[in-house]
Amino acid sequence: MQRTSGHIGERRRLASPYPLGIVAAQALRRRRFQPPPSQLAEIMAKSVYIRTYGCQMNAYDSARMAEQLGLYDYREVDEPEAADLVILNTCHIREKAAEKLYSDLGRLRPLKREREEAGRDFVVAVAGCVAQAEGDGVAARADLVDLVIGPQAIHRLPEMLARNARARGQEIDVDFAPVEKFDRLGPERAPSAPSAFLTIQEGCDKFCTFCVVPYTRGAEVSRPIAAIEAEARSLIEGGAREITLLGQNVNAWRAPAATRGIRANRDGSWGLGQLCRHLARLDRLERLRFTTSHPRDMDDDLIDAFASVEVLMPFLHLPAQSGSDAVLAAMNRGHTSKHYLGLVARLRAARPDIALSSDFIIGFPTETVSDYRATLGLVEEVGFAAAYSFKYSRRPGTPAAAAPKQVPEDEKDRRLADLQSLIERQRKAFNARQIGRALPVLFEKAGRHAGQLVGRSPYLQSVHAEAPDSMLGRIAPVTIVGLTPNALAGRLAAA
Ligand code: SF4
Repeated sequence: MQRTSGHIGERRRLASPYPLGIVAAQALRRRRFQPPPSQLAEIMAKSVYIRTYGCQMNAYDSARMAEQLGLYDYREVDEPEAADLVILNTCHIREKAAEKLYSDLGRLRPLKREREEAGRDFVVAVAGCVAQAEGDGVAARADLVDLVIGPQAIHRLPEMLARNARARGQEIDVDFAPVEKFDRLGPERAPSAPSAFLTIQEGCDKFCTFCVVPYTRGAEVSRPIAAIEAEARSLIEGGAREITLLGQNVNAWRAPAATRGIRANRDGSWGLGQLCRHLARLDRLERLRFTTSHPRDMDDDLIDAFASVEVLMPFLHLPAQSGSDAVLAAMNRGHTSKHYLGLVARLRAARPDIALSSDFIIGFPTETVSDYRATLGLVEEVGFAAAYSFKYSRRPGTPAAAAPKQVPEDEKDRRLADLQSLIERQRKAFNARQIGRALPVLFEKAGRHAGQLVGRSPYLQSVHAEAPDSMLGRIAPVTIVGLTPNALAGRLAAA
């Protein structure tokens, strides 16, 4: 693992008296899905319910936790009532994340009491960014919580469970240790859906003034090429045909160049464009995506990858956050609207069929009506296929939370409603333009109706079509014949 910049962060890990758990897990990773060693019998043959909030990076961490627990014979269940272990993998990006966590924990309390009265286990773990931000505050405020585990400590979940089974105390591990996390999780992945996530980068050094991520996920850190390639191979071996590379700032990824004829940067490094070229050579990988990108890190090579890497899908999520330069400066975004529009023009020149999505924050402190109109102007000018927009809400501890010029809530509501209706018009128009086109669709799962499968277009639209189950995990051309509120309806072009 290579740090791209910044510091790794504070260490608040409790020392582990049970190193055997680590050794056993490493051995098991080499022999995937073999029976667990007897030393870990305390945590065997149980069930886990994982609730994931937030972004794909949390979804990735949840999948990795489930895979780890699978090594110890845990099976995943769909409801907490059926579980011996409940993991709430939290997100801090939305307002009142902590309050939501405590109210969800409150709902688990009767279940925990019931199990205890019956003399049965019911272990409650809080993971993710709220765990990181609140640390031992979670355990102090909610005594039903047995484990508090930060996003960089998920590889230590089995040993925490083992310790908890022996000692029945509260375990807290919110260490920032991304290097250790990925080394210990290893590259092997469980059998995969046709579309899979692969985290290549964690953390953020950008310090946007509204965002808690630099505090909850730590500094930018890039995984090495060999580890990424090994995990990609494992995913493909397990059935993945599409891989989405993940990172809080995925295009900040950097690593020393690997060989095999892909030109390195002047400093001998590779960036994300080169990594895409490298992974595109993997057999049976048919689609590649990455998210989430920062406009500051969209370099020429990455833009060129959209022109030259066939498996790289023509769809990019590129958060703008605002169209006003004054607001962008107050947000500490490090880019202007002109820079953003320049990127869009270069991306479209490189890949004329590329579609874009974005994020916007409305009602950021100091945002005037004219700032807000500048955002509408940027959205009009770009024409997005989709975009997420939110009212600004304070995150405790971030600079913007203390800014004096907060925009009144009712004004934020009005601006947001306006912006969202513009975005919705653009989304519908984009979808309508697909009617009559034959889009390559990767079929991922059964649809609601018999004989129907659901897949994804290159632009991440959900597409429903009648198709045999044998098409699952395959890409086929689908002629788009209609629209539903959130999906496209299609017909197998070959049928
Ligand atoms: S770039 Fe800004 S919004 Fe994105 S994770 Fe970093 S601080 Fe948060």
